[in-house]
Amino acid sequence: MVSNAPVANGIALLPELTPEQELDARFRLLQALQTSLQPEGLLQIFFNHLQPLLAISGLRYSGTEIHPAIKLGREGVHHCDYRLSLEEEPLGNIIFSRSKRFAERELAAIERWLSFLVHPLRNALHYQGALRLSMLDPLTRIGNRTAMDIALNRELQIAERYRQDLSLLLIDVDHFKRINDQFGHTRGDQVLKEVTGIIQQSSRGSDLTFRYGGEEFVVILGKTNTRGAHIIAERIRERVASTQLEHNGHSFQSTVSIGIASHLRDKKDSVQDLFERADKALYCAKRDGRNRVILQG
Ligand code: GH3
Ligand code: MG
Ligand code: MG
Repeated sequence: MVSNAPVANGIALLPELTPEQELDARFRLLQALQTSLQPEGLLQIFFNHLQPLLAISGLRYSGTEIHPAIKLGREGVHHCDYRLSLEEEPLGNIIFSRSKRFAERELAAIERWLSFLVHPLRNALHYQGALRLSMLDPLTRIGNRTAMDIALNRELQIAERYRQDLSLLLIDVDHFKRINDQFGHTRGDQVLKEVTGIIQQSSRGSDLTFRYGGEEFVVILGKTNTRGAHIIAERIRERVASTQLEHNGHSFQSTVSIGIASHLRDKKDSVQDLFERADKALYCAKRDGRNRVILQG
């Protein structure tokens, strides 16, 4: 096939599609692009479509805040890159590569095909952005309860499959109502942000922190048994208690109570079991005087 292909500027071109073939390919691409709302999925479809038509060997996508870089296929030495946008909205950069230089005719074809990608890609990026926002707590910028539910289900499944421990911290700010009453709701909001910062600094990068409700937080500690969880929980408790807070010249402190529940490898647990155990432990920590950590197996 390639030996019969036309040649331009010494570059072997793949045969041009007939108008019927082009229409058919366009129809198939448009149909396939409707099947995904994931940017990775769309780019994979697009790559699969362009590969046989233009002998593309690699595709690299980057450039939006919402989405991490995507790399498909094998990078070739010759590149052509496009900055994608729609109605002035940037949609990222896409770089095609292959072992042979691109001819003008082929670049024009790529641009034509790209025009079918931009609308579905914009929709997918919007959808991803909205999904992300729906799982983010706007005050503390950490995951909310919805995100926590999804993460805990996933992490527990992973722990069971790979026979790993997993621990859960349920953290509640003590007498938070008093802080609101004494210093106002706005200062209360700042305390929630300060507590979030302390929790994040006291745990490891791989630990997952969520705002579960008003003044309640959850930390999922993967590959961590009760002992390890207790060390982290104590660190959080101590740091919150020893942080001097201030409002209009008044110095004050805040404390937290923490309930811990652990899923131990080889045991069977449901998300509900684990959560109920952490909740019970938290209840005991409150009952026993607050500013303390209680374990519940
Ligand atoms: P305990 O030690 O038993 O946990 O007492 P508490 O006062 O912390 O608990 P309680 O459940 O009585 O009160 C929680 C308070 O948290 C009441 C609610 O107004 C406040 N709260 C919930 N969400 C927010 C928020 O987003 N910002 C602020 N400032 N306050 C909030
Ligand atoms: Mg509470
Ligand atoms: Mg509280």
